[in-house]
Parts: sequence; C-alpha cells; structure tokens
Amino acid sequence: MQKDIATPIRTKEILKKYGFSFKKSLGQNFLIDPNILRNITHFAQLTNESGAIEIGPGIGALTEHLARTSKKVVAFEIDQRLFPILEDTLSPYNNISLIHQDILDADLQKVITEEFKDVKDVMVVANLPYYVTTPIILKLLEANLPLRGIVVMLQKEVADRIAAKPGTKEYGSLSIAIQYYTIAETVMIVPNTVFMPQPNVDSAVIRLMKRTEPAVVVKDEGFFFGVVRMSFAQRRKTILNNLTNGLPNGKEKKADIIKALETVGIDPKRRGETLSIPEFGALSDELWDAFH
Ligand code: SAM
Repeated sequence: MQKDIATPIRTKEILKKYGFSFKKSLGQNFLIDPNILRNITHFAQLTNESGAIEIGPGIGALTEHLARTSKKVVAFEIDQRLFPILEDTLSPYNNISLIHQDILDADLQKVITEEFKDVKDVMVVANLPYYVTTPIILKLLEANLPLRGIVVMLQKEVADRIAAKPGTKEYGSLSIAIQYYTIAETVMIVPNTVFMPQPNVDSAVIRLMKRTEPAVVVKDEGFFFGVVRMSFAQRRKTILNNLTNGLPNGKEKKADIIKALETVGIDPKRRGETLSIPEFGALSDELWDAFH
C-alpha cells in the first residue's frame, strides 16, 4: 500500500509539486493525520458493500481511506485546480468517481441511483468546508435521500448545537431540524494541529444516523418547523410570548394558543429551549387544528 496522502511530509510534497495555494474562501483546511482519517472511516462503519459520498476531497486524504474501506466512492469538489492533483494522488484506486460541482447544486438522488446501483448502503463522509456546513447537512437530510447516515468533521460549536439536548443553551431549531431526521452524536473532538492550514475554530466529528421514521410524526412538517423556529425567535421569552408574536393573528388568538399548550400539558410560561421534539410535535398538531 502507498504511503498515506495525509502525512505532513507527503501533503507538503504534493502541494509543492503542483504549486497549490489554499483558498480560505473555500474552507480549504486539509487533514494531515492518518489516525484521524482512520477514526473517521471507523465511525462510518463502511464495508466492502457500502457506497461513500464525499464532499470536498481536497488532495484526496480522506478519499483514499474511503476507497480502501468501501465498495465505491463518489466525491464532489468545487475547485477545478484540485483535479489534476487528485488524478495523480488517487491513481492507485479504481473505485472513485470525481465530480466537479458545488455540492449544493448536485442532484444527489440521481447520482445515488446511477452510481450506487450495486451497494447495500450509502454513507456521506467528509471533512466539510466550514463556511457552508449547515446548508450542506440540511440539503442531505431534507431531500430524503436513501442514506444510512452522515459522518462529518465540522466546527465544534456547530456540532454542539446539532447534538444538543433540551434545556441546554446550545439546543435550538438546528438541533431539532437535524434530530428530527437522525440520531446525532459527537464522536470525536479534533485538535487544530491535524489540519493544514490550521482553522481558527475548534473542530469535531459528528455522526448522524438516519431514523427509519422521523423523531415525531406530525400533521404538517412545514408547520411543525415553523412552530419550532417561532419558539426560539427570542430565547428569553416564554413559549406563549413567542407563539403569539409568531403565529398569524397570534395576538388575537392568544386564548387558542393557551388552550393548545394546556391540552398537550405544556406550561405557557416555559421557554422553547425546554421542549423536547415529541412535545413540539404534539404542540404543533394542536396548533395546526386551531390555525387551519
Ligand atoms: N477532504 C480534504 C481533507 O480532509 O483534507 C479536504 C477538506 S477541506 C476542509 C474542504 C474541501 O471542500 C476543499 O477541497 C474545498 O475546495 C471543497 N469545497 C468547498 N466548498 C465546496 C462546495 N460547495 N462543494 C464541493 N466542494 C467544496
């Protein structure tokens, strides 16, 4: 087996050979520690029957670990300058497709159907570009793709918000948007020294395993997420206050809101950040009836 791309020496050699300069605007912080890469692929639980989607292969550090541990890898990279490098560094592997595209523009349903015909499961595994972490994860989940799960490196602060439990200051609409579809857990805190160049925020790896059913089954998903967003609009205000301000004609229909809260056993004086996802589900269904 060839020496890992992700050793500091080999990464420096590759960057020098191609005269590559990092673009901060594209979140280019490459991994230079093979142990971290082994851990990431371990957490993804890939087998020789798995398909892996990577976002932003860079010079191929993670891509080669995915190629070694899965049946097939499809990697999306936005930066054209990296393609001649990737063709070189990944030449020992014949199970990788590289796509030059912004992941946010990609038709992932089509790619999965065409590229992963003969795999048993599909995981997204990536060291994400930090400027666009949340839109990428939400795109992957909201499109209802046939994924087993997602294992990604991202800013620790965002990982904390995604995996947060009710009653904590990190818990908010992002936690609910993601935990609605997945079981979320931070599996690794990662020191800055494993990146080149080093990012100026702390990093973590998060694992999101898709649920077979959403965390709560609601009458209307759009309305449910609307109620969640309203409930966190002003974190210091009570749930009643936020809902009367957020719902259409909420002030006039305050009595209906109080009744809905009481019917589902939620004290109107509680704050949104204390409500669990099932509580938000019950509340949104009750309000749906009062507001439609
Ligand atoms: N996977 C490599 C590693 O771990 O060393 C590089 C990770 S680096 C944090 C993020 C990568 O995502 C860069 O290669 C960057 O060019 C690419 N990228 C940035 N924005 C992207 C987008 N919207 N779509 C696809 N790739 C993107």
